[in-house]
Amino acid sequence: MENESSTLRRFCWLALAVSFLLLSPTPAVAGYAGPTVVAKANRHLWPDAIKTPAAFDKASRAALLVYILTLQDLQKASEADLRALMKVNRPNQASVDNWLRKEIESSFQRYRQASATCVANDWTCVESVAASETLLNQAQAWNRNIPHALSAWRNDFERFCRAYAAEQMRLAALLPGVSSEIARFNDQEWNGDDVADRQFFLTFDDGPSPVRGETDATLNMLDAKGKSAVFFLLGENLQNRLHRSDGSSLARLYQNQCVASHGWQHRSHAQWSQWQDSVKRTQSLLNSTLPKDSVLPLFRPPYGQRKADSGAFFQSQSLHVALWNLDSQDWNSRLNADEVVNRIIALMLIKRRGVVLFHDIHPKARAALPALFDVLGHAVDWGDCHQLPCSGGYRSGAAGVVKRDFNPCETAIP
Ligand SMILES: [Zn+2]
Repeated sequence: MENESSTLRRFCWLALAVSFLLLSPTPAVAGYAGPTVVAKANRHLWPDAIKTPAAFDKASRAALLVYILTLQDLQKASEADLRALMKVNRPNQASVDNWLRKEIESSFQRYRQASATCVANDWTCVESVAASETLLNQAQAWNRNIPHALSAWRNDFERFCRAYAAEQMRLAALLPGVSSEIARFNDQEWNGDDVADRQFFLTFDDGPSPVRGETDATLNMLDAKGKSAVFFLLGENLQNRLHRSDGSSLARLYQNQCVASHGWQHRSHAQWSQWQDSVKRTQSLLNSTLPKDSVLPLFRPPYGQRKADSGAFFQSQSLHVALWNLDSQDWNSRLNADEVVNRIIALMLIKRRGVVLFHDIHPKARAALPALFDVLGHAVDWGDCHQLPCSGGYRSGAAGVVKRDFNPCETAIP
């Protein structure tokens, strides 16, 4: 009895400790604060191909209306329900509310952009899209009249939207203790929200792999498909690879692609006393190893974690923090390659633009991307990495604040 009781007590303490680590807004262990449930969608429930811009817009309109209605439901939910959904017991509620408000407003804007290709009698088009309030009322009416044949798609996509919003709200809830891709700290930081409509850029983190490993295979796949990407390299991995091959073979490996820094080690750069050294050392190795025109002045923090006041340091190094706005979760064992394809398509439909995060040290993206290119045909523009804008998309100019629509990676940062 005594032993059973002490075993039970130990178990309870262990359970308490584990739940503290999972729920604490400031985890004791620095690292990934990602989703506890990964959003999944089933693209096969959508009845039409999405290989053209018009077909993409149609699927995007339907997806955005479901997304907007889901976000609006979440806005009305109690704080207790949101806490349970986000799996955070002391959330930054103001940050969550702010994310919801902004996401609804930007989703309205994206729906308006998708409406440019509306034609008569298209069930995904609502009549008046100018005012957000009117659009919302129409979205509610639209929701009641979705064709019966589409109800399975609708239910599946609503589940996806709810789970995806929970992922994002969780990140918002953990601010400012845990930084991530959810928010930019200044206009020099960059996350992909500002690229052109229906334009997407590919990025791969955590490489390079050992010689003839996953990185090599990923690069071969991209070459075969005529696509480019930014590879955010870990300094330590690059140095290990240089021990086994020379700089010129690495330059050949990344030919036609872009490279940038992911720091020296895969550690939170918000909670590492050596973070500045990590950034400088990696940039120096990249610049001395790879051709100048392939090294972009970008730094992607592991887990998206960097200090809120790190802007001045990055500016002094002529570097921009480069985040992402479409997370493939390709590293996650809870998704297979086909589910990664499904998830990315769903995210592309609701975001309509941006930067997709993959990892070249895992095989899943290599399997998923050819299928993704095939499903989308010429519906979207896969951007050339050399045209990737470096900063948040705006800067002060002679005529006030101007949108950056050229490649500022080529120009000196003020
Ligand atoms: Zn990483």
